[in-house]
Amino acid sequence: MKILFLGTSAGWPLPRLGCRCQICQSKDPKDKRWRPAVLVNDSVLIDAPPDIYHQLLKVNHLAPKIKALVLTHAHPDHLLGFYDLGHLYQREQKQIKLITTREVLNGLKQSSRYPLHPFIPEIVVANEVIQIDNLKVAFLSVHHNHTPTYAVKMKERKIFIYLPDLKRLPKNERKQFKEAHLLVLDGSSLGTKGQTRTHQSIEEGIRLGKELKVKHCYFTHIGHLTGPHQELEKFVQKHGGSNFHIAWDGLELEI
Ligand SMILES: [Zn+2]
Ligand SMILES: [Zn+2]
Repeated sequence: MKILFLGTSAGWPLPRLGCRCQICQSKDPKDKRWRPAVLVNDSVLIDAPPDIYHQLLKVNHLAPKIKALVLTHAHPDHLLGFYDLGHLYQREQKQIKLITTREVLNGLKQSSRYPLHPFIPEIVVANEVIQIDNLKVAFLSVHHNHTPTYAVKMKERKIFIYLPDLKRLPKNERKQFKEAHLLVLDGSSLGTKGQTRTHQSIEEGIRLGKELKVKHCYFTHIGHLTGPHQELEKFVQKHGGSNFHIAWDGLELEI
């Protein structure tokens, strides 16, 4: 399975316009982050952030090659690119599957007045396993805020779980997350600085990754009040171990 990180920021891109903090002044290209999305096997897109047009342009990926859009939840940083993505398909007179739960689809309809076409909705329920090409895909329910939110579990030979927005993983859901070869977790904050009521911190993510005994753990959804990439990378390796990393825009992993 090939996983390409198209964006790894939280709700807002980095650097922030006009900000002179350490991240925003960094010369490291890894500190330039767009809103969170990943492309799996060049054909399945998880989330459609507002930056999606430029994200696809940057990796020179022709949108109509994407067969399915998988939506984790109905928050602006994950779905405001819906219109641009649909427009690329309309121009080519092609259709694209929109795979998500009923609750997320309702949230999308509330935030967008545009018709769903060219998206063809395919509704799933939590824990149901569906097949997209060679991938077995399931939505796992997690606590983020009052918005229904899911982790996306994908299995080809190995298991990849994408969980960009998380406050708490209910105990009874945890067994579904074990044995992941790659877990991608919420990195919105570091310590109490920047901690919100709706996201866990990187420290909490490290504890969770260790508890779940995942093989490799990467953080995405990196918030503004965390730190420059290199410092964060050192932090997670020191406290988590050599299998913990910070993702960046353009990172490609093969599992
Ligand atoms: Zn988010
Ligand atoms: Zn800044």
